[in-house]
Amino acid sequence: MSRFLSKNYEKLVPYTPGEQVNVKVIKLNTNESPFPPSPKVKEVLSEEVIDKLNLYSDPELKELRSAIAEQFGVTPDMVFCGNGSDDVLAFAIMGFCGAGGKLCCPEISYGFYPVYADIFGVELEQIPLKDDFSIDANNYIGKNKNIVIANPNAPTGLTLTFDEVEKIVASNPDNLVIMDEAYMAFCGESCMELVKKYDNLLVTRTFSKSHSLAGLRVGFGIGSKEIIDDLNKLKYSFNPYNLNTLSIKAAAAAIADNEYYDDKIAKIVVTREKTISQLRESGFVCTDSKANFIFASSNKITACDLAAELRKKGILVRYFNKAKIDNYLRITVGTDEEMQTLINAIKEITEA
Ligand SMILES: *Cc1c(COP(=O)(O)O)cnc(C)c1O
Repeated sequence: MSRFLSKNYEKLVPYTPGEQVNVKVIKLNTNESPFPPSPKVKEVLSEEVIDKLNLYSDPELKELRSAIAEQFGVTPDMVFCGNGSDDVLAFAIMGFCGAGGKLCCPEISYGFYPVYADIFGVELEQIPLKDDFSIDANNYIGKNKNIVIANPNAPTGLTLTFDEVEKIVASNPDNLVIMDEAYMAFCGESCMELVKKYDNLLVTRTFSKSHSLAGLRVGFGIGSKEIIDDLNKLKYSFNPYNLNTLSIKAAAAAIADNEYYDDKIAKIVVTREKTISQLRESGFVCTDSKANFIFASSNKITACDLAAELRKKGILVRYFNKAKIDNYLRITVGTDEEMQTLINAIKEITEA
């Protein structure tokens, strides 16, 4: 630490991202898609677009907000885009919960929520999950605090139903409910249509997982025009050009290519179900994950040891050294081939 860091940030514990590597490994540790992005993305990143990089990007993000609005049947003024959905979450938690405001989230969930609460001075309540790792919706009904929930939750992959989400949103009319739908494309019940009915709901999504564009850094939030206006006010006070021209073009092309992504997402879901069955047959306990990852615990080897052994075989998975989940691994669903290599490696390790 230098002598210059503000006292406010001395004790900050930053988010730890999953490792990125250059050597050839099977990378099942950060929930990226194993498939390349839509070919339409390549087509729009033309020389003509590159030649125009001397100009600032469009701070209103008109092209991208319209493309997203069209997909979800809302108007562009209900769409806010960020440099990844982390950016959207940061603006929302800063703006609606910051400087002494109150927020609650599940105790086991996306690791960034407590980090944002910390940096923005938010009073955070972390609500325990049930013993089976599911979220008890009753804990959030009439909570009278802002709420952020990942649905499907991470790293468990478990979901809340549409009705449960609606009850949470309807019973907290004076607080913002953020539903983080980063993994919703992989088969949950989205609450997106509720943004037209409730003015206290912000639904966030990302191109990183379902749209094979983690490296592009684009995410978005959909909510009432008033919420989006507030987010824009914050954005224009901080970083008006939060998306670059290439990201805007690429993301707009990707979101319109439903045919390509429906196929890739369907493949990932089939592979997920197959891998979960195989793991259960070899004595693993797995949650019924509805995301592009599996949450699994072996009865033969600790999660920590298994992660280390897999690593020796060139397979990266995510281990969380955290109470209650420290005997589970979060394993991203890769291609069918990659998952077969994983299953074989696990057999070698546990039967050795
Ligand atoms: C990956 C993830 C995000 C952030 O994704 P971006 O790459 O920043 O768009 C947000 N929420 C959850 C639950 C995630 O797993």
